[in-house]
Amino acid sequence: MMRAERGDITKLEVDAVVNAANTTLLGGGGVDGAIHRAAGPELLAECRTLGGCATGKAKITKGYRLPARYVIHTPGPVWHGGGRGEPALLAACYRNSLALAMEHGCRSVAFPCISTGVYGFPKERAARIAVESVGHFLGEHPGPVGEVIFCCFSDTDLHAYRERLNGDKGNPPA
Ligand code: ADP
Repeated sequence: MMRAERGDITKLEVDAVVNAANTTLLGGGGVDGAIHRAAGPELLAECRTLGGCATGKAKITKGYRLPARYVIHTPGPVWHGGGRGEPALLAACYRNSLALAMEHGCRSVAFPCISTGVYGFPKERAARIAVESVGHFLGEHPGPVGEVIFCCFSDTDLHAYRERLNGDKGNPPA
């Protein structure tokens, strides 16, 4: 089941939260900075051992002081106009993050709106890719991941996701 809600991803009591990281995995602004602040310095210490992460791939750490047990770090693509494989890379972020969540037995996973902040990916298109990629993954891999929350920081994002989700069976109306 997929749903969208408005909120701060650092507060969610889920098995894993996804971090819209950068390729160094050493922290940054936006949701990345918020996750590191909330999780505490042990998160950065573990991230330093990981050797970075390629765009579209994902790596997992513990959640430390977050209510979430794990953080899945995925660097989204920087938007350069759409001709540099950005849509496929964004879809890969969702897919690879869910594959890691599944390997670690996570039942609930929360995603931020990857790449739609400083990385500049158009919000509507990013929402469509997120909903399609996650929906496809869940259809192909039944269990253990049963609940995916799209954690939107703005009403604009929430609206974009709810429009996408409304057509799907089993999702609450906006
Ligand atoms: P990117 O570099 O991938 O664009 P950003 O962190 O700049 O990442 O933005 C990604 C999205 O995360 C944006 O929609 C932003 O509004 C949102 N965001 C920022 N802080 C939080 C938070 N605490 N919880 C959930 N989403 C957040």
